[in-house]
Amino acid sequence: MVIPFTNKKTLLSLRKSKTTTKKAPEVSVVGGDEGYRLFVEGVKEYAMIMLDMKGYVIGWNIGAENLLGYKEKAIVGKHFSRLFTQEDRKADKPKLELEQALETGRGEDENWLVRRDKSQFWASGMSTPLRDKAGNLLGFAKIIRDLSERKELEQQKDDFISMASHELKTPLTSIKLYAQLLHKHLEQIKEEKGLSHLTKIQEQITKQENLIRDLLNVSKIQSGMADYQVQEFNLDSLVKDTAKELEATAPTHIIVVVGKTSHKVRAIKEHIGQVLTNFLTNAIKYSPEAKKINVRLSEDKKSVTVSVEDFGMGIPKEQKKRVFDRFYRSENVKTKSLSGYGLGLYIASQIIKQYKGQIKVESIEGKGSIFSFSLPHAKQK
Ligand code: ADP
Repeated sequence: MVIPFTNKKTLLSLRKSKTTTKKAPEVSVVGGDEGYRLFVEGVKEYAMIMLDMKGYVIGWNIGAENLLGYKEKAIVGKHFSRLFTQEDRKADKPKLELEQALETGRGEDENWLVRRDKSQFWASGMSTPLRDKAGNLLGFAKIIRDLSERKELEQQKDDFISMASHELKTPLTSIKLYAQLLHKHLEQIKEEKGLSHLTKIQEQITKQENLIRDLLNVSKIQSGMADYQVQEFNLDSLVKDTAKELEATAPTHIIVVVGKTSHKVRAIKEHIGQVLTNFLTNAIKYSPEAKKINVRLSEDKKSVTVSVEDFGMGIPKEQKKRVFDRFYRSENVKTKSLSGYGLGLYIASQIIKQYKGQIKVESIEGKGSIFSFSLPHAKQK
């Protein structure tokens, strides 16, 4: 790929730098070709940085100057890792980013970057390898955008969700309690009609409770908090227990569990239970006309997999990827007025990611879906 702010002179010196290992190449200013230079300098919102093969800065536009506080003269020849936080440097992120760029053609990341005055901002960055026609590596182009505002908005949204769900929870707990007392009373006096209305109210209370639990979980997961203990356990009994529990609440469906696993996983059990509950309640909810749900347990050398298959409405092909997005609901379920908030799968994917696992969906609209997750084996000590 040819990046517009490179020019022959720069690329030639980059090529020469192949032989230099430690020392940064001696290119002081990207430019020379006025057109390119004007183009690059015109971009003020994006930092455009050129690096040699080792990650030393050889070019720096006005956008980079504005965003990061270094004048071009002050940064050229320095290694780009100084833009990362100390933590990220320790974790070798700068090197990993360039390696990823080499492997996949682009290294993308969102992380904190450090300005010259040591202040930090949330940035999205993309590194692309620069190669000559023969495919030899010449260096990298890195483009950075300031995402502080978006990050701040997200934080505000999460704070609001967290606060609102706490506030909503308290009165609901007391509504639930009084409804239970009233239920008992109506049972005693055998008031059938009242009981039937009350049961409907209680069902709605449970729905609302679930939503609030989801909202609280979103904010908990986002702030990295966990109330429970990480442990090593076998998934089989958790899967069987969760399936039984849900079968009892949905007499319309039969849940068949097949397969077994021998390897343990390492996680907070309640988290994985939550993912399973989400898969199974969705399978029930989105297959109102079907009876059977298949749950499969399997494993390979590295991981353990659980899949939940239903024979319901499925998901339109082009919307499959988005079901793991926050608040996303596919068009076919919205039109059927099936209740939901599009949070369950988002939370599930965050949980599985947290344990370095994988979450997937296969689906054919009108035929059914298979949701699955895999978790790595717990390391044997
Ligand atoms: P909710 O069910 O509350 O909308 P989820 O995050 O659990 O939220 O699911 C997001 C969306 O993914 C659903 O709204 C639906 O469009 C789709 N979906 C999830 N599971 C299934 C399924 N088993 N069959 C069909 N669509 C599904």
